Order: sequence, then structure tokens, then C-alpha cells
Amino acid sequence: MSFDKLNLNKPLLSALDDLGYIEPTPIQERAFPIIMSGKDVIGIAQTGTGKTFAYLLPILRSLKYSDQRHPRVLVIVPTRELVLQIVKEIEKLSTYTSTRFLAIYGGTNINSQKQLVYNGVDIIVATPGRLVDLSLTGILRLKDIKQLVIDEVDQMLSLGFRQQLLSFLETMPSKKQTLMFSATMNEEIEAVIAKYFYQPEKIEVTPHGTPLEKIEQVCYHVPNFNTKINLLEYLLKNDDSLNKVLVFSATKKLADNVYEQLNQRFPEAVAVIHSNLSQTARINSLKQFHEGTKRVLVATDIVARGLDITDVTHVVNFDTPDTPEDYIHRIGRTGRANKDGVAITFINEAEQEFQVAIETMMNKAIPYESIPEEVVISKVLTDEEIPKMVDKIKQKKGKDKYVPGPAFHEKKEKNKKVILGSASVKEKMKGKIRTYRRS
Ligand code: ADP
Ligand code: MG
Repeated sequence: MSFDKLNLNKPLLSALDDLGYIEPTPIQERAFPIIMSGKDVIGIAQTGTGKTFAYLLPILRSLKYSDQRHPRVLVIVPTRELVLQIVKEIEKLSTYTSTRFLAIYGGTNINSQKQLVYNGVDIIVATPGRLVDLSLTGILRLKDIKQLVIDEVDQMLSLGFRQQLLSFLETMPSKKQTLMFSATMNEEIEAVIAKYFYQPEKIEVTPHGTPLEKIEQVCYHVPNFNTKINLLEYLLKNDDSLNKVLVFSATKKLADNVYEQLNQRFPEAVAVIHSNLSQTARINSLKQFHEGTKRVLVATDIVARGLDITDVTHVVNFDTPDTPEDYIHRIGRTGRANKDGVAITFINEAEQEFQVAIETMMNKAIPYESIPEEVVISKVLTDEEIPKMVDKIKQKKGKDKYVPGPAFHEKKEKNKKVILGSASVKEKMKGKIRTYRRS
């Protein structure tokens, strides 16, 4: 099936042709006619399978030329970097039209954004915080929004964002089309959607939370921070295929610590990104990694969702994500658009409960590898690893999620349910050797 069959128009077909895209991905093919029919939609499809164009193509197909000032389409996403990426995608598809679009996000000058909004715009892509700030100035009016997209919807409706998002939905017309997308979903969010949105049609290309087969997964049981550093150093030194490596860590502090250690060992080859850095530094780190000037990017979960970084060969989970959803999104930064990728997860003893939850959701065990002989198993613990601190980490304080807050507790409860819900993987895991001896 080629794009010809989607009832696109000339400008869109020409833009797709320029991009060299030959046929729509399954979510694009299935979502197009349903979105065109005007229905609300929840689209679930694996990471990197083209969900952005799945909503942008029908939106741009039906957007008529207008010189009205107030926006008619609004796309809401969790991070600034994702705003910029989606705006670039709109730009690519708008080569042959005069669509006016705008990126609205924090950490930048609000006055210049006000001026741009004032000049008139068709599509706004925004993070919720800055969007609210701009609405409050009275310059941004959302009364004319006809189509609303909530990308990474499970994240956007999780506790940290929910109130902000819902209260601000009230300022929009009730008669509008709402489109929601993600690779993961959970029952709690589905209940929120059922309550606030009108009978959305669910398009599920694969069951939610299915990782891509293209991503090769492996895990190591590693006792502590210093050994994790030793192992990562070993892998980077001995395996050339680790060419573009995204290293995730749960907290800003951990990200800084990992960055410092790696930077000493691999000078000039490592960058870091987290929400305590300036917006310029964030964009710069991402750019250097994207363009291949830096081999390694150490990051918090702010880059786990939605970002499409070209040809990431390996994702390394320096710590094990505390929710299966975070795991799916983190590893989904590799293996995108039919490419291959490898996801390596370091698991210490305290993190093994997260491993069980992840494997339960995927309904598959992550293949296990022993730590190579040459890697020194350190006995030196960091300050954070003394027992009292381990408990604190388990409560996941200070994680670099998009919004801090009680979301963790909610997730923890949900995880418990998942773990209790299915015993199969848990049973399998019982037989697993969980020592740090090399076998
Ligand atoms: P998702 O939102 O599902 O994670 P994205 O929308 O970010 O995925 O798309 C992943 C990558 O696939 C992007 O680089 C995008 O440009 C590319 N892509 C999207 N649609 C197609 C297509 N029909 N053919 C080839 N590549 C595509
Ligand atoms: Mg996406």
C-alpha cells in the first residue's frame, strides 16, 4: 500500500515523496480514515512506528487555509525537546503549503512567544506549563481549537500533569476532536479518558507495552554504582558496535555522577542532559549526540518519551526503571523506524522487583548475561548506597520526571497490581541465579 491510497492531497504527497517515505506505517494507515471521519481516537502503537505522522497527516489534510489569528489545532506533549521535534515534523510536511505553526515551551522568552502568537498561527505545539502561562496573558485564545492532540497521553494524564491538563481543557470548546497517542496505556488512565472524553475509538496496532522485536534486550546483575561504571567502561572500550549510546539514569544527581565518571574515562565523548540544565545546554547536548559529535549521552527520563534521535545503537539503563512503562519508552529510543537496536539493563539487588514488573508486562524474560571476567567488582559503596539512602532511592525521590509529585505512589500501587496479577514470569524468575558471582 502506498500513500496514494490515503486520500492525501498533492502538497502532502510531494512532501512525503521528498522525505523518501514509500508507504504508511500500520498506525498511519489505520488512523487516517478514522481521524478524517471526525471521531475521537486513542492510538496505541509501538515506539518508533510513526505515531506523529499518524495524527499530523489527517490534521494537515483537513486544515483549510485561513488567515484567522487564533489557533485551530493544539498538540500537547510532556517535554520541550519533544515540542521542537514535532514542530520540525510539521515543517517537513508543510513544505508546499503556508501552514503557520508555533512551538510553545518554557525556559525561553515568553514575550517573543506572545508576539508570534499575536501574529497569527494555525497549529500550536506546546508543553502544558507555558501554554497555561500564555493563555493567562489573554493573548493566546483556545476557543477556536477544533482538534486537540495529546501525545504520550498516559504520561500527560498521569497524576503529575492531570489536574493542570484537565482544568485547562475546560477553557477549550467542548465540541472538538481529541486524538490521543502512546505506546503504553494503563487501566487507570483509560478510566480517566472514559470520564473526560467522548467515546474515543481505540486503534491498537499491538497490545500496549509490547516492545519491538527489533530491539535486542539483555540485562546484567550488577551490585553497585562503581561496578556499574566499570562494566559500562568495559563495554564502551571493548565493543565498537556501541556507537551511539544513550545512558538513562533515574535522577539528575545520578546522571551527573555517571557523566563525571564517564567523562574522565572518555574525554570529549560524553554529553549529559537533565532538567536542571539551562534550555540552551539541553538543546546543545541533544544536538551533539544527534549529530554524532558525542558518542554517549547520559540522560534522565526527560528524553525517554517520544524523542526520535537518529540511529541510537544502544540504550543502557544504568538503573532499572521503576515502572514497566518507563522501560518500554526508554528502550524505544533505539530500534526506531525498522532499525536494529540493543537495550542493556543494569540491575542491582534492590532493583530486581522492577525487573519482575517489567518482565511481567512484556510477558517475557530479559536475557541475562554474566559480568565479564575483566570487570572489577567494586566493594566501595557511594554515599547514596549506604542502606538508609537505598530506602530513599526506593521511594524514588527526586526523579527527573517531567513533573515532580505524587505520581510515583500511584505508579507503585499499579506496579504491585501487575506483579500480583501474573505469576508466570515471576515463577520463571524464581529459578534465576541472582548472585553477582561470575558463572
Ligand atoms: P512514534 O511516535 O511512534 O514513536 P515517530 O512518529 O517519532 O514514532 O516516528 C519514528 C520515525 O519513523 C521518525 O524518524 C519518522 O520520521 C519515521 N517515519 C514516520 N513515518 C514513516 C513512514 N511512513 N515511512 C518511513 N519512515 C517513517
Ligand atoms: Mg511519538
